[in-house]
Amino acid sequence: MLVEKLSGSDTIQSIKMINKILSLITHDVGIDLGTANTLIMVRGQGIVVREPSVVARARKSKQILAIGEEARRMLGKTPGTIEAIRPLQGGVIADFDATEAMLKYWIKRIHSGGGWLPKIPRPRVAIGIPAGVTEVERRAVQEAALAAGAREAFLIEEPMASAIGAGLPILEAEGQIIVDIGGGTSEIAVISLGGIVINRSIRIAGDEMTEAVVNFARTKYGLIIGEITAEELKISIGSAEPFPKEKEKGALVHVARGRDMETGLPKSVKFTSTEIREAISDVVQQIVFNISELIEETPPELVSDLIKHGLVMTGGGGLLRGLPELVAEKIKMPVWLADRAQETVVRGCAIVLEKPELLKRVRVVGGLR
Ligand code: ADP
Ligand code: MG
Repeated sequence: MLVEKLSGSDTIQSIKMINKILSLITHDVGIDLGTANTLIMVRGQGIVVREPSVVARARKSKQILAIGEEARRMLGKTPGTIEAIRPLQGGVIADFDATEAMLKYWIKRIHSGGGWLPKIPRPRVAIGIPAGVTEVERRAVQEAALAAGAREAFLIEEPMASAIGAGLPILEAEGQIIVDIGGGTSEIAVISLGGIVINRSIRIAGDEMTEAVVNFARTKYGLIIGEITAEELKISIGSAEPFPKEKEKGALVHVARGRDMETGLPKSVKFTSTEIREAISDVVQQIVFNISELIEETPPELVSDLIKHGLVMTGGGGLLRGLPELVAEKIKMPVWLADRAQETVVRGCAIVLEKPELLKRVRVVGGLR
């Protein structure tokens, strides 16, 4: 009898009650588990974590040594006994244990701050995942969040989270196109009526550009540089097409230090913005090509909406100088770089946690443990 009494709406009521009490002592958190960066947003506090998705651990015992920026600084510098890894690759979990450790670490840290009530790390979380990851991969992300202490974990497809975070009216019957260029993946999606109509996820994004710079330095100058140096070059002087400052003052230059391939000794080389543009142009072209192709595959009724509203670009890769302009020329429609382009996914995740109706519409997996 008791069981019967407690089933149905009573159970739901009591779960709601428990959740209400828990929400006083734990947080609602939006998480962008990116291939390059992890961002976490807490309701009422803004973005509290913005760190590279890197974990350093002892190779043999697997003991975690550092997480985030501290671990990133170890990339390419570790002795044989330590490994610095990116647990997320190509937008999916490549190393489950490291992902879980990373989530656990951040969740614990954001709950250890002050406040009038002590906080326990049992948050409700919404996490962005690439559209088109398999069911198994989705479960892996959800499991990692639950194992890290979350009491509820919702998964939101990244293009949807990104569109919500960028403030697009996703529930309307008007097509919107959004392109998120991250580290490991670029996601292109057309959204209408709260759903993804058509999308494409490619493993060509910012990291490929960085790698192209590494290759360029080696083939043109016989210079061996690491990922961090190459990324610095890309960000400081890279571009998709000639940009205003360059047109005024001529090519920009940036000196990078590395190792001479022949002598093995340290060497400095002065790179120009023209060279870096050439180095990454293949990667840029491939991204542009995939955007054009997706537009070609979009149902005609929606294409007219897309032309009307333009394309919204987000993600760190979208910050490459001249990229929005180049894409606009190629697809012949306006392109907008989202405000705070690297934060749209985490903002979208945090927003849906506050709006139960919206959450119901856009979540792909999630609920009570
Ligand atoms: P993810 O979502 O995969 O974690 P992000 O959206 O954080 O990725 O973007 C990371 C990528 O953006 C990296 O490849 C980084 O080098 C690149 N990036 C960041 N800022 C810039 C910039 N100003 N110009 C060009 N690339 C950038
Ligand atoms: Mg991202």
